[in-house]
Amino acid sequence: MHFVEVAIKVPLQRTFDYKVEQLLHSPELKPGMRVRVPFGSQKKVAVVLALKTSTDVPADKIKPIIDVIDDTPVLSEQHLALLKFTARYYCYPLGETIHTALPAALRQGECPDKTSINMVELTDKGAKLPSLKAKTQLSLLKQLAESGKSSVTELKALGFTKKTIDSLLDKELITQFIEHDNQWQQRAPTVGSKPVLNKEQAVACTSINQARGFTSFLLEGVTGSGKTEVYLQCLEEVLKKGQQALVLVPEIGLTPQTVNRFRRRFPDTPIMLWHSALTDNERLQTWRFCEKGSCAIVIGTRSSIFLPFLSLGMIIVDEEHDSSFKQQDTLRYHARDLAAYRAYQHNIPLVLGSATPALETLHKAINNKYQLLSLTERAQTSTDNQFQLMDMKGQPEQAGIAHASLAYMRQHLERGKQVMVFLNRRGFSPTLICHECGWLSECSRCSTSATFHKAIGQMICHHCGEQHQVPHQCPDCGSTQIFPNGKGTEQIEEFLTQTFPDIPISRIDRDSTRRKGSLEKALDDINQGGARILVGTQMLAKGHHFADVSLVLILDVDSGLYSCDFRATEHLAQLVTQVAGRAGRSGEPGQVLLQTHFPEHPLLQDLVNNGYQDFARYALTERVDAQLPPITNMAMVRAEGHNINQVMDFLTDLVPVQNVSGIQLLGPIPAPLERVAGKYRFQLHIQAQERSHLHQYLAQMVDYISTSKLAQKVRWSLDVDPIDMI
Ligand code: ADP
Ligand code: ZN
Ligand code: ZN
Repeated sequence: MHFVEVAIKVPLQRTFDYKVEQLLHSPELKPGMRVRVPFGSQKKVAVVLALKTSTDVPADKIKPIIDVIDDTPVLSEQHLALLKFTARYYCYPLGETIHTALPAALRQGECPDKTSINMVELTDKGAKLPSLKAKTQLSLLKQLAESGKSSVTELKALGFTKKTIDSLLDKELITQFIEHDNQWQQRAPTVGSKPVLNKEQAVACTSINQARGFTSFLLEGVTGSGKTEVYLQCLEEVLKKGQQALVLVPEIGLTPQTVNRFRRRFPDTPIMLWHSALTDNERLQTWRFCEKGSCAIVIGTRSSIFLPFLSLGMIIVDEEHDSSFKQQDTLRYHARDLAAYRAYQHNIPLVLGSATPALETLHKAINNKYQLLSLTERAQTSTDNQFQLMDMKGQPEQAGIAHASLAYMRQHLERGKQVMVFLNRRGFSPTLICHECGWLSECSRCSTSATFHKAIGQMICHHCGEQHQVPHQCPDCGSTQIFPNGKGTEQIEEFLTQTFPDIPISRIDRDSTRRKGSLEKALDDINQGGARILVGTQMLAKGHHFADVSLVLILDVDSGLYSCDFRATEHLAQLVTQVAGRAGRSGEPGQVLLQTHFPEHPLLQDLVNNGYQDFARYALTERVDAQLPPITNMAMVRAEGHNINQVMDFLTDLVPVQNVSGIQLLGPIPAPLERVAGKYRFQLHIQAQERSHLHQYLAQMVDYISTSKLAQKVRWSLDVDPIDMI
């Protein structure tokens, strides 16, 4: 008799045993294969973890598996080890962890074999970019001229329709082919033109290329210092060895600009993208390509960390400080941290790049766990941005913009430059206020305000999405004297349109870019010089290159200075530095204006006078004093429910589970947003000097929760290494 231990997608911290009848034993069953098993009254897809000759399940209880789905494992031993590590580290059920990683078709027990991908490229006729009446057709040709070739999927993600593609095929301006390239490993990659590295870049490249086995690097380089160039030249060496590479980018960093740059550099290398807009089919395709080695480079967001690779040679995490690498629900993993585990597993180099490294990463670099590589100068210009704190106390202002700031804007615009105005709040104003009685528009279900969206005439809660018509009268006193209170990007745009009637303005935030392809279109417009003033939220801060921006105005710095989240100042400093990095690419120094009521604040002074590098190292010493992460290790249990007592009791019950030394507990404390969508929210913070102590404690706690009746009455989640305290 043979048995198998399997993982099934159920919210339980355990695995299950089944027996295998001889008949089913061929093909030879191996870990990583999928089987179908009876589970209660259902049939479920399960993944084999181990084969056993005995089991603790009594003979009359053990059920046989129904059938074996795969001939070969869908998860290699190494991949299974990664998922087991992930499940253990984040205290998440293994079956659910595997479920998160697998593409939908594989989860559902199908075994389609996708090995080809639809690509298009320009024909000779198309390469001449003939003048076409249809603008979208012409812009598709231009896109292909930039990228060389592209998958149909990518073009659709950019907002091009099947109709546009088909018309160009009909006109024989583009041609379609199936990419199925298994040969790239056998030939040296074609490499497009590239600049000669400067000294710092060369040192960085050599260090990375000479690394033998698992080595982690922090590439700390100001925006525009040529980090991407270092990645590209390191990747060239990886490709020459016939190895694959994974390039992780933030959600928002996956722009055509980035991708085109990789494609132009390696024109005959199969490069694939991975992001949240892929269809199930496309996910499966990419998964299969990686697994078979038919794809050399994956540029992907967070979840690409779970892709299978035949021979992975390097992992790069660009903008490693970006919070989109952390999943904020279900399996709350951090792709950067899992990247470190994967690099260790594959025994390969890991490169983390940023202009504003997370304090977690910097801490490891300072303690020599990561090798620090610095790029201190901009690659193309030798100019540094000039920072200036604009004291708002007593300043005349309109729509939150100081008159002095407006005067600077005018100067830059008159010289034909672009100006960027940054405010991290979308909508017209965060609340409406009644002039008569002081009533504030609040969400009825959350302890927060409802945001006024003027253009669509709606009040929207940004936390639960509740939406209703703008009231004409104050619901409390009936007065019609109700006004917007506070500023959002929509209001800034309206004010600037009135102030600079002849200047084209583009607003970039989640509201203005909801439609597929609209962000790309807006960015394109900006780069063609169409828009002269750019108003936006943090969507503007990352990754995009704007050649003509010479002034960056940051409106509301103060909200980040005083916050209950101990990471708020770190995030503010990162944001300011990233936003500022958009200026001064055109050869002259950029000007960065920070509007604040606290110009003497030591953090702002440090940031403005000495830069992020200095600020971050100082901030780390503060974390030492306060014994906060990354000096200590943290986990957090969040609980919410309609019944406040149940929520409190659930968390209070967890507190005594502490037979483990070296643990500090804080809570239950109310979440910063105490009520969302009608539910009360509380937290328990768990901290430990030693990571092993933290995990010992968490293991016990998760065991305890599995027996707790209250756990079924409230919604709870465990967040290991939380990055925000909401
Ligand atoms: P980062 O990724 O740090 O923002 P990039 O690699 O995008 O920097 O470089 C910024 C600009 O400088 C790009 O236009 C790039 O082509 C150019 N560049 C990078 N390295 C060099 C170099 N060694 N010589 C000339 N130009 C360079
Ligand atoms: Zn009122
Ligand atoms: Zn709400």
